[in-house]
Amino acid sequence: MEIQRESMEYDVVIVGAGPAGLATSIKLKQLNPDLNVCILEKGSEVGAHILSGNVFETRALDELIPDWKEKGAPIKTKVKKEKFLFLGKKSSLSWPTWLLPSVQKNHKNYIISLANLCFKQVTWELIKKEIKKIVLNLV
Ligand SMILES: Cc1cc2nc3c(=O)[nH]c(=O)nc-3n(C[C@H](O)[C@H](O)[C@H](O)COP(=O)(O)OP(=O)(O)OC[C@H]3O[C@@H](n4cnc5c(N)ncnc54)[C@H](O)[C@@H]3O)c2cc1C
Repeated sequence: MEIQRESMEYDVVIVGAGPAGLATSIKLKQLNPDLNVCILEKGSEVGAHILSGNVFETRALDELIPDWKEKGAPIKTKVKKEKFLFLGKKSSLSWPTWLLPSVQKNHKNYIISLANLCFKQVTWELIKKEIKKIVLNLV
C-alpha cells in the first residue's frame, strides 16, 4: 500500500522559535516579504521553552525593530542600580562596578521576561503587523 503524505513547500524552514529563530524569520521577511517562511517549534507554545528572567541589552533589537518601544514591546524595567559581589560564607565583598569590563555593566539594559518577549514578539510583530505567511508549526 502506498502511503500518501501531505507536503507543503517553503522557501525557508527555521527550527526553533527562540530569539534566534524569531529574529531570523523577521529579518528574512523584512528583506523579502514574498519569502515563504516556516518556523518549527517543539514547545507547546512560543516561549514555553525560553528562559524567563533576563537582563536584556537592546542593541540587536534596535537594529531589527527600531520602533520596538512604540510597538509595545514588553521591555519596560530599566536597570537602575547594579552591584557586583564576591560572596563568602558569612560576608560579601562589593566590587566597584566602574572596574568591570563593559560587557558586565548593565546600567543601560532592561530586566525582562525573555519568554514574554518571544511570545509577544510573535503577536505584535508577526501577527498584528500582518507580516503574513510565516507559518508557525508546533511539532
Ligand atoms: C541560565 C541562563 C541565563 C541566561 N541569562 C541571560 C540574560 O540575563 N541575558 C541574556 O541576554 N541572555 C541570557 N542567557 C542566554 C539566552 O537565553 C540565549 O542566548 C538565548 O535564549 C538563545 O536563543 P536561541 O534562539 O539561540 O535558543 P533558545 O532560546 O534555546 O531557543 C531554541 C528554541 O528551539 C526549540 N527547539 C529546540 N530543538 C528543537 C527541535 N528539534 N524542533 C523544534 N523546536 C526545537 C526550543 O523549544 C526553543 O524554543 C542565559 C542563558 C542561560 C542558560
